[in-house]
Amino acid sequence: MTNEYFKNCPECQKDYEAKRLNQVYCSQKCKTRFNNRKVRLATNEKLGIIENTNSILWKNRELLSQYANQTISIHTINQKGFDKNFITRFSKIEVEGKKKNCSHIYDYYFYFLDSNSIKIGVERATATAS
Ligand SMILES: [Zn+2]
Repeated sequence: MTNEYFKNCPECQKDYEAKRLNQVYCSQKCKTRFNNRKVRLATNEKLGIIENTNSILWKNRELLSQYANQTISIHTINQKGFDKNFITRFSKIEVEGKKKNCSHIYDYYFYFLDSNSIKIGVERATATAS
C-alpha cells in the first residue's frame, strides 16, 4: 500500500484508506451527502434569483396597476421604484397610425407617448374599475 491510497475525504474531512486510486470520498454516504449539498446550493441560488426577479416584476406590476388606463410622467413612477428594465415581454402596437414599442409586465403594459410620459394599459378582459 503506497501513500497515494491514503486520502482525506472532502466531505467529512477524515483521513481514510482508499480502495481505488480514483476514489474521492471515504464512503458512499459522504459522496451522496456532498452531491446533495451541491444540488441544494444550486437550487437555492436559482430560487434566490427567481425570487428577486419576481419581486421586482411584481412591484412594477403593482405600480402600473395604480395608474391603469392613465397617462403619467415616467419620473413619477420611477420615483416610486418602478424599474422599466424588468418586463415580461415586448410587443409592437399601433397607436394613431404610429408603431410603438410596448413593454408588458404580466397583464399590464406601457408605452412612451413622448420622452417623458407613458400610457398604461391593462390586457385583462375584466379590466379594472377606475
Ligand atoms: Zn467522508
